[in-house]
Amino acid sequence: MNRRSVAVTVVSILALTGLGYSGWRFVAQREHQTCRACSRPVHDHSRTIASINGKRGYYCCPACALSEHQQSGKPVQVTQLTDYMGGGALVPSESYIVQNSDINPCTRHEAVITPDKQPAHAHFDRCSPSILAFGDMKTARVFVAEHGGQVDRFSDFASAFQR
Ligand SMILES: [Zn+2]
Repeated sequence: MNRRSVAVTVVSILALTGLGYSGWRFVAQREHQTCRACSRPVHDHSRTIASINGKRGYYCCPACALSEHQQSGKPVQVTQLTDYMGGGALVPSESYIVQNSDINPCTRHEAVITPDKQPAHAHFDRCSPSILAFGDMKTARVFVAEHGGQVDRFSDFASAFQR
């Protein structure tokens, strides 16, 4: 190998390494921004971290993470929730959830209208009915008074998904 081809080889290796690194960075960033299950954007106020079969991932909302149980038949451990009101991280065992309210961060931009201008209800959506997390029961109750739904302790609600 002469000097020139050594130089070309070194430059190529450097260029390839650089490309690989920026590609990896891109993928790593995307993993934090799109839901592992449905590829919707992960919303700041419903971000959920869950572990399925020992694999940890980001989900767009608690409903989507828990529906992995139905989809895969595997136990789902939710390890972090996000306070819908404040946007802060919550410990699931100390959190409350509101399910079935009229707020669903995953579907609000995707209203399905049938040709006769009626909303379509029958389609399956893994993020519906919506589940939102709250840090305390009082805030959850105030939310329900305005938006409907039921308040539950997250741990009571989620126990069925952990087997
Ligand atoms: Zn999702």
